[in-house]
Amino acid sequence: MSAKSETGPPVAPQNERNVNALFRAMHTATAAESDAQARLDTLTRVIAGHIVADVCSIYIRRPGDFFELYASEGLKPEAVHVTRLHMSEGLVGHVARRQEPLVTAEAPLHPDFVYRPETGEEKLHSFLGVPLIRAAKVLGVLVLQNKVPRIYTDEEIGAALAVAGLLAEIAASGELLGKEETATVSEVLRLPDRLVGTPVVSGVAFGRAVLHDAPLAHHKSFAADKGAELERLEDGLQSVRKSVDDLLADEGLSGVSREVLEAYRLFAYDRGWKERLRTHVFAGLTAEAAVERVKAENRARLSQARDPYLRERLHDLDDLSHRLLRHLSGEAEARPRALTEPSIIVAHSMGPADLLEYDRSFVKGLVLVEASEVSHAAIVARALEIPMVSGADGALERIFDGDRVAIDGEAGEINIRPTDDVFEAYRVRRELQSKRQAQFAAERDLPTVTRDGVEVELYMNAGLAIDMPHLETTGAKGVGLFRTELQFLIGDQLPRPAAQEKLYAGILKDAGGRPVVFRTADLGGDKAAAYMRGAAEGNPAMGWRGLRLSVDRPGLMRPQLRALLAAAAPGELNIMFPMVTLVSEIEAARALLDREIALRRRRGRPLPERIRVGAMIETPAAAWRAGEIARAVDFVSIGGNDLAQFYFAADRESPAMQRRYDPINAGFLAFLQTVIERVAETGRPLTYCGEQAADPLMATALIGIGVRRFSLPATAVGWFRRLVRGLDAGLFSEWLTTELAANRRDLRDAVRARLEHLGAPLPEGR
Ligand code: PEP
Ligand code: MG
Repeated sequence: MSAKSETGPPVAPQNERNVNALFRAMHTATAAESDAQARLDTLTRVIAGHIVADVCSIYIRRPGDFFELYASEGLKPEAVHVTRLHMSEGLVGHVARRQEPLVTAEAPLHPDFVYRPETGEEKLHSFLGVPLIRAAKVLGVLVLQNKVPRIYTDEEIGAALAVAGLLAEIAASGELLGKEETATVSEVLRLPDRLVGTPVVSGVAFGRAVLHDAPLAHHKSFAADKGAELERLEDGLQSVRKSVDDLLADEGLSGVSREVLEAYRLFAYDRGWKERLRTHVFAGLTAEAAVERVKAENRARLSQARDPYLRERLHDLDDLSHRLLRHLSGEAEARPRALTEPSIIVAHSMGPADLLEYDRSFVKGLVLVEASEVSHAAIVARALEIPMVSGADGALERIFDGDRVAIDGEAGEINIRPTDDVFEAYRVRRELQSKRQAQFAAERDLPTVTRDGVEVELYMNAGLAIDMPHLETTGAKGVGLFRTELQFLIGDQLPRPAAQEKLYAGILKDAGGRPVVFRTADLGGDKAAAYMRGAAEGNPAMGWRGLRLSVDRPGLMRPQLRALLAAAAPGELNIMFPMVTLVSEIEAARALLDREIALRRRRGRPLPERIRVGAMIETPAAAWRAGEIARAVDFVSIGGNDLAQFYFAADRESPAMQRRYDPINAGFLAFLQTVIERVAETGRPLTYCGEQAADPLMATALIGIGVRRFSLPATAVGWFRRLVRGLDAGLFSEWLTTELAANRRDLRDAVRARLEHLGAPLPEGR
């Protein structure tokens, strides 16, 4: 897209050249004007001339959601500052309300058209209106009109959008309007706002927003001296490159991926990036504005990409832009920012190390634009009990650094600059939550036995050393599922056997004699480590993952088994295999284990005194043969997350599928019941470790169909114990059996009603 020359102006495609020429003209015209009104008048003239419109008008948002005609080329001058349209009126209101362009060849025929005689627009036919949007708020409307009924071309619409984008930017910066209007604009930008994202870690949190990559102090959009600006850009690029080179030169490079940095370095030296930046500076933008513009272009292009690799690239490019902006502004890169008050960290995406670098006592919540429930940031946030919401599109545009923000990680709500009432409601909710947590902690040693004497054992899920203190605080009996793959995912390379052994030994030590079930690395599928990217699979969830991958790659599994044997010796070792499909896979894995045991014995190394092997039932094939699978091992665990995904044929990673099929479904529960019965016949113990059990209604339904042992997220253990203690399992089970036989459709509501009837203590809001 750009020329090779380092000295002459780079060459951009025709339409981009046109827009750049227009920007240049806008710059020249406005630079000459010191008065805000004169600036606006000149701008409308320049824009009308470039887009060949008979009329170009700029409407600016005023208090009370009115849009006032501030400048016009082509409408009667006496209409300026007289014509005002409310957000609910006219085509201008239409554009503002919908926040999207409106194109029509016959404006008077449009149902929203209103005629204002003072404008003299009766002779006008075609209309192109574009909103001036900033932080998801409409600050004004740019209108182009022509006397002939014509359809504006895509190129013209694109140019109008680009101009409107720039106008919004400079309106917000105070470079376009007078003092009073700028004040209104900032007021509009700071109205309370609300976003709903995906709940990831529950809990209510509030504090001041800290933008992880905070926008820098305001910069000008147009440059006064192009030559000087090009020099600044060059200097900025040089220092960014040097900073990345310096990072790479660091021998220690602990915790930071060399491989990732190498890739990052390539971007820093990318000629295409540099040329695009130069193109914009040649067009008259400041270096900072050019960086923002290229960043927006990249974002538009790459955010559509489905390929996760390309999306990751986007994060790198964003990060690089931020670095460049920091260098341009001369701000030293003090990272992480020191927090001084309760804060909500807001970022596009974030690695676990970044999050851990902040002072934990001040990190109260996390808002990410892009992160799944199994993302590394989510895993760390969950372990640290930091409420988190993801999928918050627009968060970075709508939340300003320092804004008051309240989030509810259970509902996925993000309240930006909430009113005092909303803030107070959140404070009360938070207080209740802390009280409840304190109560749960006080109950942690109470037996988990139902009213009718049925014992339900509660274990917790874990995956990192930082999860382990929860054993003590929740009173869980042990770790029912330790996801060893997290260590593989967080690092930038395959963890060395010594590092694996160290982690496992530490976990067993922290468990203080309580049992820990180590699941061998469940890699592949959505949990592909960056360093082991293989051939792309159309359906990775059903691809080369879990036990399949492990038995095909003994080089991966054997060192892990070795590390587990060494860490657990001479105590007890519980190993569990994920994603089992056939008994033969268990046999293959067992053979690898036996080889490792024999090897240790031959070498005279100590062995665990007891080794128990388990299998996860996560595929319909294993569920159908649950008895046979159970006989091949010492214990089994139902991985409800995967099993439900395959039962309903609904991708657990797909946001569209996430809440589509309720696991409290007569078919699914009856299916699970069969598995439970088949396993019970073998006498092998069974645990349920899918996250669905963290839903109290599902948890009760599972107890109802005979599950007696659970492994849950630590945050669920407290209320689960209380629920168990308040339940009459016999009565509930009897009722549920009849309902399952009747194949009830609205089972969730029925379960809720039944529990209320039985007086079971359901956590609030469920
Ligand atoms: C499951 O599938 O239910 C499970 C516990 O494993 P994971 O969520 O790690 O796939
Ligand atoms: Mg699973």
